[in-house]
Amino acid sequence: MRVSQRLGTMVESETVRLADLADTLKRQGHTILDFSAGRASDPTPRYICRAAENAMESGDTHQTPARGKLAYLNACAVKLKRENGIEADPGTEIIATMGNKQGLVCSLLAGIDPGDEVIVEDPGFVSYLPAIQLAGGIPVPVPLRPENNYFWDPAELEKAVSNQTRALIFCSPHNPCGRVHTEAELEILESLAEKHNLTVITDEIYERLTWDGRVHRSLAARPKAREHTITLMGTTKAYAMGGWRIGFASGPAPLIEAMTKVQQHMITSANSICQSAAAHIFASPVSPELSALWNSWETCCHQATVRLDAIPGIRCPMPEGGFYAWIDISKLPGNSLSWAHHILETSGVVLVPGAAFGPQGDQFLRMTCVKEDTVLEAGLELLESVFQTAPAPL
Ligand code: PMP
Repeated sequence: MRVSQRLGTMVESETVRLADLADTLKRQGHTILDFSAGRASDPTPRYICRAAENAMESGDTHQTPARGKLAYLNACAVKLKRENGIEADPGTEIIATMGNKQGLVCSLLAGIDPGDEVIVEDPGFVSYLPAIQLAGGIPVPVPLRPENNYFWDPAELEKAVSNQTRALIFCSPHNPCGRVHTEAELEILESLAEKHNLTVITDEIYERLTWDGRVHRSLAARPKAREHTITLMGTTKAYAMGGWRIGFASGPAPLIEAMTKVQQHMITSANSICQSAAAHIFASPVSPELSALWNSWETCCHQATVRLDAIPGIRCPMPEGGFYAWIDISKLPGNSLSWAHHILETSGVVLVPGAAFGPQGDQFLRMTCVKEDTVLEAGLELLESVFQTAPAPL
């Protein structure tokens, strides 16, 4: 069988590709410091592992209903109300997913027809364009600019809406730019969605990771936005559970029902053991163990960005949320690809070239800050010295 034309035009996930490359280089004996994919080096907190062990011990190892087991859906509803101010009926408006990426593809397969347009952020998360393409849709990138504090220019956004536009994908806290969007920005999206009858798919994977006292706001908490929003949430980032592959989506019942049909045929149901463990997280308020973990991550982000910002020619503000340093190299010669390549070649440090997130990212590099102290320290030292020599043109 030949590879489909759909796949032929699709790029790889640059973040996953680089992390895999770093692994291979390490196995070949190279000294590599990998800051590419958004993976914290901390283990999953013990109390979450214990919940999974208990689930397995008690025989909770069978397939669940396609939409998810009731205990999990109930816990998600409790969490949405407590932490996000979102009212969602666990009986019809929530579905268990195997992470935000799977929830995204599932929601696009459920809500997009071939030729439909979906507006995305440039720069934006590497999987948005391919996910839209998988569903037969057409991605329409609209720039985010530093001078607009990495939010769409409202007039430019409105101009991008056509008769074919069905949805927007919106990420807050933002990967890679680190913005935590404000209520005023959400209001703009609410009005646009209402006016043009669009669905906003909000990727809130970093919602627990906001710094300097900032608070994450969910679009679906706004009463008029509720029927226009699919909210994607998960455990990968905040709970150091990337390998568990568990999250959920909430949204209008007809869309959740359509997503359930996709789940029935694609994965049957999300992993039962992981649903039990995640139910345990969401049913109760944040544990002291987690607060301590998140505080340590804020410190990592602070340490990294202060050091990077002090390098001549580079700007690197503290992210408002999420755990990436978004390193502005626009004052230096070269571009993101030449710098990422040069840094890997000369120091073994793996960063993601900003171009992977869209053309607007090409004067930036992304660094994951949440690594062991020694690794972060070593990586920053190498970067401080490597930025003194410009890369050769590629
Ligand atoms: N959305 C964003 C914005 C991300 O940064 C990531 C992970 N890099 C994901 C989704 C993937 O999330 P999950 O592991 O839940 O599929």
